[in-house]
Amino acid sequence: MVKKSVSTPIQYLKGIGPKKAKSFTALGIHTVEDLLYYFPRRYEDRSRFQTISQLKEGESQTIKASVLARGMRQSWKKRGFNILEVALGDNTGKIFCVWFNQPYLKDYFKVGQTLILFGKIERYAGRLQMNSPEFEILAGESDESLNIGRIVPIYSLPSGITQRNLRQMIKYGLDEYLPEIGDFLPYDIRSRNKLLNLAKSLISIHFPQNPDLQKESYQRLSFEEFFLFQLPLALRKFKKKEKQGIAHNVEGGLADNFIAHLPFQLTQAQERVIREIKRDMAASLAMQRLLQGDVGSGKTVVATVAGLMAIQGGYQAAFMVPTEVLARQHYEKIKCQVSPPKAGPPTAEVVPAEGGSAYGGSCQTKKVKVGLLTSSAKRKEKDKIYKEIREGKIDFIIGTHALLEKAVEFRNLGLVVIDEQHKFGVGQRALLPQKGLNPDVLIMTATPIPRTLAITLYADLDISVINELPAGRLPVKTLHFQEKEISQAYAIAREHLLQGSQAYIIYPVIEESYALDMIGAKKMYERLKTKEFKEFGVGLIHGKLKQKEQDLMMSKFKDKKLDILVSTTVLEVGIDIPEATCMITEYAQRFGLSQLHQLRGRVGRGSKESVCILVADVRTPEAKARIEAMLKYNDGFAIAEEDLKIRGPGEFFGARQHGLNELRIGNPLTQTQLLKKAKEEAVKLIHLDPKLETRQNALLKEKLLQRFPEYEELILVG
Ligand code: ADP
Ligand code: MG
Repeated sequence: MVKKSVSTPIQYLKGIGPKKAKSFTALGIHTVEDLLYYFPRRYEDRSRFQTISQLKEGESQTIKASVLARGMRQSWKKRGFNILEVALGDNTGKIFCVWFNQPYLKDYFKVGQTLILFGKIERYAGRLQMNSPEFEILAGESDESLNIGRIVPIYSLPSGITQRNLRQMIKYGLDEYLPEIGDFLPYDIRSRNKLLNLAKSLISIHFPQNPDLQKESYQRLSFEEFFLFQLPLALRKFKKKEKQGIAHNVEGGLADNFIAHLPFQLTQAQERVIREIKRDMAASLAMQRLLQGDVGSGKTVVATVAGLMAIQGGYQAAFMVPTEVLARQHYEKIKCQVSPPKAGPPTAEVVPAEGGSAYGGSCQTKKVKVGLLTSSAKRKEKDKIYKEIREGKIDFIIGTHALLEKAVEFRNLGLVVIDEQHKFGVGQRALLPQKGLNPDVLIMTATPIPRTLAITLYADLDISVINELPAGRLPVKTLHFQEKEISQAYAIAREHLLQGSQAYIIYPVIEESYALDMIGAKKMYERLKTKEFKEFGVGLIHGKLKQKEQDLMMSKFKDKKLDILVSTTVLEVGIDIPEATCMITEYAQRFGLSQLHQLRGRVGRGSKESVCILVADVRTPEAKARIEAMLKYNDGFAIAEEDLKIRGPGEFFGARQHGLNELRIGNPLTQTQLLKKAKEEAVKLIHLDPKLETRQNALLKEKLLQRFPEYEELILVG
């Protein structure tokens, strides 16, 4: 006999053998507990049914009816397409149900059987009809107390398992294992927040006796998720308070001098954010700050100032970015900004070559040595850079993931900057700071989320926002063309080129795809350079090119040796070339909303008016919503909110932030209050019992470690 514990593998549950267990594991359900936490997608109130005569067209409704007749026929519109029709009736009327091209369904239905059906009621040729409704066959003699006469859960089904099967399995699971489940939420938290206990919640989320109980269990289980999510954040914030970091010498002159010699005036928002960072860096607590700012708002300069504040006191600064092209861009810019040669007066519009500067000379007191580390560097070069970092010869190191390698050791790392944080996993983000002794950390992102959410979701970070673009920036004009109107888009690009500006043309794929009916960047490049834009310099860049070739192509474009850059989304992050004023995104319906906004951010970076042309034949409501949002909003916060609405929080956060994709039931958007309460409780609890040592928190500690094994050290070590 297997010991009764909710961590029992699911195959030992009554009704599930090894074969069915496989269908479950495919969905990430491994244990009985996982199964009990597999929540219904929706519910049907089967305590009373609509009679057929009461049905309302256009609404989705549930009925109970018997099979009167069934038949299969071929479609007269489409050859080889068959249609199954089933006529059903109750005492009040008749309805037809129709399934397309699922011939195997035919044998499911027998005349006289009783079915429960759920679907949208429509009227065709004067008769009521449901197309491909969800259905269940009532068994008749056996116990139907789970499937009828009550509020019934409807699940997303693992393959080969029916609603009735699944309900039965979950019922077994609840009956047998519920007594073994202890409630890990401490009693006083439950009572303060009027939350149901765990056992009752699990029963009621699956088999609610009434809608109120369903709601209460939903509250409790959402709270529990939010709370578990907030605990490690609260813990980290608490531990941070205890830890001593570096009190930097923020008045050292290097940073101020740098700002004084910038070729532009900082925006008020940049100045404010720099003050916030300065205050943090001067304090002995280690900074943990998130800097949000829309694309083009000028985050790099802020990061450079922070870097100099660390360097002027004798510390090293590290700046990690997600791509090699971006690393090189930052490296070149920062190098000539912080240690310009003793050149003559500033020459406008000059793109810095090796050692040159577009920013003119300045008089730094200390020479700052800037380094670049990427994985494509040669072994020998890497070794040299490792050595220089180790010996403290490089003050400011810019690089990709390559910075995380073991061989990278700092002499005295004082500041870590992580650019485009959503491109890194939580684990990766945590690694770089570990190479120093509590260095200050600045995390930057251009995909802002609404502030109310941000302060809760990033509860362990302080947040700064650049909510202003540099003066003189004109908003990017956004247009939408159909595919057949592409020549108009090219004509607009041509106008920009003739005025000496540059253009990007973006494609979702490199190679053409027959399945998706798309032409790829490579083929279009061949065509554009020989046809539509033959008198211009056209280049091609994509992720499959060698790093060297990508860099070469970027610098050719930067140096204006090329007029047009045909590209895939490698361009998405961070690229900054103010002379590019036109972007055409083909098959724009294929991109996500944030991605489109990021891409658009590659233009509109100078003082000339820029245009972003979305070429898209829109076929789905979501694609339509995305294009409309792009036409309506230029502001990243508004775009983010729309994106959240269109995709829902699961996908929106799932793609970006590990941890939040674990939310199965809680919805940070609709349950903001509950999320806030969960955060407050988490903070309170950590202050009272930072190591979760007390008896009432023992179960909680176990649960937390089970959920987030990576936090073990954080919890156990003081
Ligand atoms: P992002 O926030 O998207 O990372 P960048 O830091 O790349 O933006 O800045 C975009 C461009 O704006 C760069 O060319 C940068 O030099 C320039 N820039 C930054 N701050 C200002 C400012 N205050 N005034 C004018 N231009 C600025
Ligand atoms: Mg940037």
